[in-house]
Amino acid sequence: MKKTIKDVELKNKVVLMRVDFNVPMKDGVITDSNRIIQALPTIKYALEQDAKVVLLSHLGRVKEEADLKKNTLAPVAKKLAELLGQDVKFVPATRGELVEEAVKAMQPKDIVMLENTRYEDLDGKKESKNDPELGKYWASLGEVFVNDAFGTAHRAAASNVGIASNIETTVAGFLMEKEIKFIGGAVDDPVHPFVAILGGAKVSDKISVIESLITKADKVLICGAMAYTFYKSLGYEVGTSKCEDDFVEFAKGLLEKANGKIVLPLDTVVAKEFSEDADSEVVESSKIPSDKMGLDIGPKTLELFKKQLEGAKTVVWNGPAGVFEFDKFAKGTNGICKLLAELKGAVTIIGGGDSAAAAIKLGYEDKFTHISTGGGASLEYLEGKVLPGIDCIDDKCTCGHCH
Ligand code: ADP
Ligand code: MG
Repeated sequence: MKKTIKDVELKNKVVLMRVDFNVPMKDGVITDSNRIIQALPTIKYALEQDAKVVLLSHLGRVKEEADLKKNTLAPVAKKLAELLGQDVKFVPATRGELVEEAVKAMQPKDIVMLENTRYEDLDGKKESKNDPELGKYWASLGEVFVNDAFGTAHRAAASNVGIASNIETTVAGFLMEKEIKFIGGAVDDPVHPFVAILGGAKVSDKISVIESLITKADKVLICGAMAYTFYKSLGYEVGTSKCEDDFVEFAKGLLEKANGKIVLPLDTVVAKEFSEDADSEVVESSKIPSDKMGLDIGPKTLELFKKQLEGAKTVVWNGPAGVFEFDKFAKGTNGICKLLAELKGAVTIIGGGDSAAAAIKLGYEDKFTHISTGGGASLEYLEGKVLPGIDCIDDKCTCGHCH
């Protein structure tokens, strides 16, 4: 068990908080504030406890001088102030006198936000490569470190592992706590029956996840373009579908290893072109015409998946069932959203990335137990890997005397 923000005294303390404010921007305007909104509960809690809150986040990548202006966090600080209804002091620097003076001047319930942590990447990737001096410097500014940025937890950076290694106390924020509870819980100790649904573009992206989940789940339902590599391994014609020939043997091996746990789609929606308004038809999986490509799962597959999901207590889903970006080929993905939304008594988890975007786009944002805020991080977590950004959080004491 990891310590959370509720396990520590915050009153009058300078609390360094790593949040994920990596919001989409266009021409300096935030196009989706969801990540800022998601961070509010942790920030508000710290303020209620009379902490002095110093926020750190990355935004995009900083490789060259031109990225600096493009990726300034200034508009994010403004948006946060608006959402909180209180001042947020934005410091246009990541270290130095400006930063130190701003922190020194803080009163309880004040917020200071530093400039994009990746500004430090311009000169030798100090943030992204976890430069030891940088982590030490940031740690020196505060007394408690709260890591609430799950999206970057799969990489050791100065603003997560670096700070944690140089400060007395590191705890999880509420968002991080939720990710650990649901994704970590599903991987480490799932309530059975445990069904995994895996889709998306490529088998090669998901090898480790499939390998990990066939040992833990009771069933692994395959959909998306990944299904075609599996079909090919069974000797089916896949037409012009996306298929990874280099992984056909691997898929074959997986099917053998899985001992019947892997469930493949029964039918598929095919079209001649990869386009929004291509003429389409539903065919049996083994009968894809040689001049057509599979772009979604068909209705028989949804029926099959429905049966496989009956009675499930834990469901993890990663990867869309079809090309959901085109309305015409979003039916499979929508259908899975609906199946999971209607599933009674199950913990339902979406593992981030495009699948999370699809569920939100299709209007199912509140219908799952948990939609992960991390793409790559949730994938690696589902693979059973130790994520450095979680590992660096203090463990709860199990002596029985401490709370
Ligand atoms: P996630 O980000 O959830 O892990 P992936 O990145 O693996 O998912 O895959 C998402 C992409 O897979 C989407 O852009 C979707 O269009 C694509 N995809 C799903 N099914 C197919 C298919 N049958 N043919 C081509 N692309 C597909
Ligand atoms: Mg993706």
